[in-house]
Amino acid sequence: MGLLFDTHLHTRRHSPCSIIDESLLIERAVRAGLDGLVLTEHHYQWTPEELDALVAESGHVGFILLAGFEYSSSKGDILIYGLEPAQVADFEPGRAPEVMLAQAQAMGAVCVAAHPTRAAIPFDERILDMPFDALEVKSVNLEPHEQRLAQKLADDLGRRAITSSDAHRLEDVGAYATEFLVPIQSMADLQNSLRNGTFRPYSIAGQG
Ligand SMILES: [Zn+2]
Ligand SMILES: [Zn+2]
Repeated sequence: MGLLFDTHLHTRRHSPCSIIDESLLIERAVRAGLDGLVLTEHHYQWTPEELDALVAESGHVGFILLAGFEYSSSKGDILIYGLEPAQVADFEPGRAPEVMLAQAQAMGAVCVAAHPTRAAIPFDERILDMPFDALEVKSVNLEPHEQRLAQKLADDLGRRAITSSDAHRLEDVGAYATEFLVPIQSMADLQNSLRNGTFRPYSIAGQG
């Protein structure tokens, strides 16, 4: 058994579309069996000070709380892991996905295509040529047929798959997670694992 991380979720502190009270988040994650979380707000990355304070307030010393951010391009959303909070300003919303993916990777980030087959905000055919490190193939925001399409896309492209909650409500935290097979103590550890493929999708609540 590796470490279970939910690597895509939003809190109300920095994502207006989320109703998750961040002060309840870590307790909920621990109860869901998670070892860590990666907050991915829309166009905001939590600072190390914010992350440390939330863990301290939760009382769960040792819980691993990391942050990336979710970039909304003109066609599809991208989870970006491993930049500094201030670098989010370099990612103006609504630009071409392939351009911003290239920029993020050139800056050293690991990038995952968020809900790539979600009917409301899909990528277009450009995704076939975009060198994502992985594709998100399950979340509470992908319908079952969209999940199957996303898995097929990952298979066709030879890309690894992650599963994450994309939670905007507390009860969805941990609905899906990714199991990491190596120790994850830092964003650098997470990046290495995502690059090396030392992880696998994991369904906590038996959602297939
Ligand atoms: Zn999204
Ligand atoms: Zn999201």
